[in-house]
This record gives sequence, C-alpha cells and structure tokens, in this order.
Amino acid sequence: MTEPLPAGLAPWAWQKAAHLLVPPPAAPGRTPDLAHLLEAIGAAHADGLAPHGYAPRDLAPLGLALLGHLPTEGDDEQLRLAADALRAEIAGATVTYVVNRNLNVSNHCVKHCSFCAFRRDAGDQGAYWLSEAELEARAAEAQQLGATELCVQGGLNPAATINGSQLAYAERLLEILQRAAPGIHLHAFSPQELLYFAQEDGLELDVVLKRLRAVGLASIPGTAAEVLSEPVRRILCPEKLSARAWVAVMLQVHRCGLAATSTLMAGHIESPADLVAHLLTLVALQCHAWQNQQAGFSEFVLLPFVGAAAPAALRSRVSRDQPERAAMLRLTAQARILLGPWFRNHQPSWVKLTLAGATEALRWGCNDLGGTLMEEHITTMAGATGGTFQSPQALEAAARSLGRPVRRRTTLYGVGP
Ligand code: SF4
Repeated sequence: MTEPLPAGLAPWAWQKAAHLLVPPPAAPGRTPDLAHLLEAIGAAHADGLAPHGYAPRDLAPLGLALLGHLPTEGDDEQLRLAADALRAEIAGATVTYVVNRNLNVSNHCVKHCSFCAFRRDAGDQGAYWLSEAELEARAAEAQQLGATELCVQGGLNPAATINGSQLAYAERLLEILQRAAPGIHLHAFSPQELLYFAQEDGLELDVVLKRLRAVGLASIPGTAAEVLSEPVRRILCPEKLSARAWVAVMLQVHRCGLAATSTLMAGHIESPADLVAHLLTLVALQCHAWQNQQAGFSEFVLLPFVGAAAPAALRSRVSRDQPERAAMLRLTAQARILLGPWFRNHQPSWVKLTLAGATEALRWGCNDLGGTLMEEHITTMAGATGGTFQSPQALEAAARSLGRPVRRRTTLYGVGP
C-alpha cells in the first residue's frame, strides 16, 4: 500500500525520498571470498564518485555479501585491517573529539517505541522535565567547562507548548540556551522531533526549520533513524516516522542549509539485509547532498542496542542485555567499508560500548570518540554501563594508548579550541 504524504513534509522531498530509500535486498547469489569482495566494493565506490557513477542501490548485492559473510577468525582480522586502512586514507591518523554537553530536556513522550526505556507519561515514576532555570544553569556550566556544543533532544512532550505551540516552546528553549551560553553550537532536535513540531502546530517543516535556524539552531542530530527498513520499524517503532519520512525530513534539513549527523541502532532484530538498506540509504542521501552542494552528513555513529532495561517484549526477543562487542566491532568495520568515501568521520558510542570498547573501535575504522557528554539519560536508563561523562583527558588518553595523535574539534569537525 502506498504511504500517503505525512502532514508537514514537502511533496518534492516525499517523492525524492521514495527514490533514495534503498529497500532491504534479497539474498545474494554466490558470495565471493572476502578479498575479492573488498576489491569489488572499492572499485564500485571509485565508480560512484565519477559524475555519472552508480546509484547507491546498485551496491546492495555486494553490501549483502559483505554483511552476510560468515566470518572466520582470519576474516575478522582481514576486515579490520581493510577498514583501518580506509580510515587512514580518508580521515588520517588523528583521533578527534568534541567537548559537549547532552541535554535530554524531558522524557515525557507520547510514543511507545518497543526499545525505549527512557519515555514516561507525565506523573509516572521517573518522569522529569527540566525547568528553564535548570536548563540555563546546565548550559552556563557546560560553557564554563569548555563545552562548544549543546546536544539537545528529548521525548515528544505534548505539554511543551507556549500558547499551544510546540514550535514556540522549541524556539524559547534555544533562546534560553543561547542566552546562558552565548555562541555555543546548538545541535538539536531529531527528525522525529522536528516533524512532531510541524504536525502539532499545523505548519510546513520548512517553516519550522527556518524559524529554529533564526534562533540559533546550527545542526541536527540524525537520531530516530534506528534502522531505515520499514519491516524492522513496524516492530521497533510503529508510531514513529517511517523510514521514507526520515529520509524526506533529512532532504529538507540538508536543503535548508543545515548539516546533520547520521546514526544506526544495531544489534537487535535486524537482518544483514536491513543493515545494508540503512547504510546504502545514507550513501544515497549523502550523494544527493553533495551533488547539490549541501553539507549533508558530518559523521556516522553506530549505536549498539542496549537491552538491559528495555521493555520486556523486545528484551526477551533479543535476549541480550548488553551489546555483543565482537559483532559490533565487525559491523563498525563493515560500515566503514560500505559507506566508503561518502563518510569521512565514524564514531563509536562509549556510552554503549564503554570507553575501552570505543577505543578498540578506533582500530576497526573509527576516527572520532564523540563528545564528553557531561550527562546522558536515554541510554543510561536503558541499562548502559559506559557512564555519562568522559573528561577530555580520558578521551585523549584513550587515543594516545593506540599511539594516535588526538585533537579537540568543533561539532562540524573544524579545529576545536
Ligand atoms: S525513542 Fe523517542 S519517540 Fe520513541 S518512545 Fe522513546 S523518547 Fe519517545
């Protein structure tokens, strides 16, 4: 059945999204050995960078052969070396990180994603909503501690309105933060939150983006992507925006001049075909952004699923509380290879993998350690064991333990202070 155009989205973006969204591919034919596979993907990427190169979906059979490849111990090392070499070629030796603070404004949320341990209804035990004074204090403190970025996300809180407007509340939020920490980079609102503001207020998404930019919105976190495969989303997050809608929101975000990050939540019910669909959809979006002289995505972040405190139905289906480290490192390398020249910056999540796991991921294709965060609620409430704060010294020591140079960066990978 054809999905109708969701309210708020531009028809052009909705049409384009149908074209860019890569469906999960069918099983590959004969799988070549890993060395030939890596060579074929490298050659295809070289082709793709040419003016009339491939459509990213053409890579799906090779992608599925790579992600569906049943590894031996030797294969894993070959994969790691290939990803590490590609990282060195594309991003160099230097490990980067940003001094930032996470602000999860409220966990009140109208949706019920099957993996989410963060959401609450107002009045539930554990429900919270930061006041203006708390937001101001945390933003000012972050800047005093050297933060150059505030990463602002939260649940879809139906009561977060001013005169009945979600957008007016979001504008006020950015104004408060900007006043408390002048000049700080506001990296805020997932595609789901942006579309929620538009739909609740009966506005076009372009209007929402324009107004938020006017009050300091500088880039968008590419969360709420989970896995960009409709069959998986029907189980993980049936109430959330569809994969096609996520792509359409990103097309509008990119066109309005904002950069975004990209994420993948993996290690639950998804198949290799779903992962290939997700990764190649990101390539398709990046390719489209670059062809149109837009900033596109600044980085790719792999978010391993943490199930320890997830709702029971999904938890029992996945039957694993913490991410399987070996599988996540393999996927880190596979993502570096399949995203190829389209994504310079790859980041592991130390919240989900621990800092030791994230440091290991720097040997599997990653070049960035993310942010200091200072606080984190979404994954910590899901039972993650990686902690909620890393000092700049700890992140620098992690990079240096591998003999790699390290530097502080800005949100969009400029040279940090
Ligand atoms: S993942 Fe986000 S949208 Fe889904 S229930 Fe949790 S807070 Fe709400």
